[in-house]
Amino acid sequence: MFITVHGTIGLIIGTYSQNPILAFFLGLISHYCCDIIPHGDTKAPKKYNNLIYWGLAGIIDISILSITLLGLLITSRINIYNPNIPAAFLGSVLPDFLLLGYFLSNKKIFIIPFKIHYFFHNIVSKKYEWPFWAGLGFQIIIFITSIIIYIKIC
Ligand SMILES: [Zn+2]
Repeated sequence: MFITVHGTIGLIIGTYSQNPILAFFLGLISHYCCDIIPHGDTKAPKKYNNLIYWGLAGIIDISILSITLLGLLITSRINIYNPNIPAAFLGSVLPDFLLLGYFLSNKKIFIIPFKIHYFFHNIVSKKYEWPFWAGLGFQIIIFITSIIIYIKIC
């Protein structure tokens, strides 16, 4: 899923966590749980399936997440004195940055995180996957819903 989706879910988890260590691991677990849900990315049209488009998508994804975080910080929606929020946020986005490390380097340290990520990501999607555009719409809906939940409840 998009890092935007994982990050906003991480914010919600952090708000309800009891301590930073628990928050981090709940964020991490949430990443793999969310990735189990089919979200269309394995059905990306072939013309988009290359490093340039994936890189561009990553830049857009991280930019939207950064703007979202900035907006939440400016409007004081994030309690900066609660360490559980950044801890859960870090846990929820970490697997995708480890994946980036795997693709950008050939360091052995990234192989195990890559295999774990690949395993969870493909549990369902290797048998059933949504069309790319449906998955994209699904993720946008999850992102908007998470932001609304965070603003209204957290
Ligand atoms: Zn992931």
